Amino acid sequence: MKFCSTNKKSGLVSFKEAILKGIADDGGLFMPTEIPKLSKDFFNNISSLSFQEISYTVARVFLGDEIPSQTLKQIIDDAINFEAPLVEIDENIKVLELFHGPTLAFKDFGARFMARTMSYFREQSNHEATILVATSGDTGSAVANGFFNIEGIKVVLLYPSEKVSRIQEQQLTTLGGNISALEVEGTFDDCQRMVKEAFADKEITSKITLSSANSINIARLLPQSFYYFSAYFQLKDRSKSLIFSVPSGNFGNLTAGLIAYEMGLPVERFIAATNINDVFPVFLKTGIFNAKASIQTISNAMDVGNPSNLARIIFLYGNPQSIAEKIFSCSFSDAETKNGIKDLYSKSAYIIDPHGAVGYLALKDYISQTGLKSYNGIVLETAHPAKFPDIVEETLGVKINLPENLKSCLEKGKVAVKISNDVKELKKILLS
Ligand SMILES: *Cc1c(COP(=O)(O)O)cnc(C)c1O
Repeated sequence: MKFCSTNKKSGLVSFKEAILKGIADDGGLFMPTEIPKLSKDFFNNISSLSFQEISYTVARVFLGDEIPSQTLKQIIDDAINFEAPLVEIDENIKVLELFHGPTLAFKDFGARFMARTMSYFREQSNHEATILVATSGDTGSAVANGFFNIEGIKVVLLYPSEKVSRIQEQQLTTLGGNISALEVEGTFDDCQRMVKEAFADKEITSKITLSSANSINIARLLPQSFYYFSAYFQLKDRSKSLIFSVPSGNFGNLTAGLIAYEMGLPVERFIAATNINDVFPVFLKTGIFNAKASIQTISNAMDVGNPSNLARIIFLYGNPQSIAEKIFSCSFSDAETKNGIKDLYSKSAYIIDPHGAVGYLALKDYISQTGLKSYNGIVLETAHPAKFPDIVEETLGVKINLPENLKSCLEKGKVAVKISNDVKELKKILLS
């Protein structure tokens, strides 16, 4: 399978080149040149397959010609070594729990898969690579965890000072080893801009091999399509119309769902749920895209004012009218989000985190607008509620138990270097 740039101005590359480069030479994002449909057999026999087998079938389509099947199987078994259970809220609404990995957020899927595929390709080369990542919280910890102790790869994380939760910061700054954390005096958008500037800096790229692990890297994106299939196969009644509500920031998770759909998954509608960082719903409504500075919210991993994967969605579907045929989008304030957490808890005693709550609200909004009576509405729960104890406990008045690996991480000492939001400082550190 070959990969092209969303800007269509640079040549086709292999998966290996795409993962190691991160961004195409023309500044675009990599996409598969074609998205083949999975066979009818796959869909007919799916109930007998494990999550790992489903994942392997999907991954083989894109990587089968570059990674031998036994190795690819091993990579998947090792990367996807936890489940994504579908929890039933009522007859129509389900929650897909994507937080059973080591850092308790869905980004573990992409980061663990990427670390292992990259390590496979790097075994064939002998220079060290530096992965540069801007994080609004969960990306960094998932990437740090995924790449921790992987030979020949260093990870440099940039996160916005005081704009991530204490737990997120502990997860980012306590691993040590091949992982370094930079605490940037600025916003997440500043961090993303600095990473882009570093990639565009000829002096930096001539001296070190830079790669990205943000959701722009195709190796992060593809494995996120696995659980859309697995969710479908966990449904009791697959005949009802299938709707996925995806709490969105950079729209990587949603784009992975679109890829699953293009591979034949019978999805009726996707819902892009955002917090008040609403450039995407505004884009669908007005046809005009205006990047904005991000605004801080209680669903902070979705505080993105210029979503990077929009380029991929436009690449797939073209204009906003065609995008809106496939994707419904709406946005919610923090007050509404807290009400969503309360509402779900009082209805079903399910504790959802603030990101998932935005997804839940968006699904309800879509249902009330369309008047659907019977459907499979799946809300992607992107993080464990224990990662946001202050908000969830205050909203519900209940105590959440911290999972063991969170507890131990909270006891470790933070190690981070504070820098300004000027790329010059980042450059000095990278070249030192
Ligand atoms: C990253 C993240 C999101 C947003 O995902 P995108 O792929 O960037 O749209 C949502 N929820 C949580 C908990 C996250 O960590």
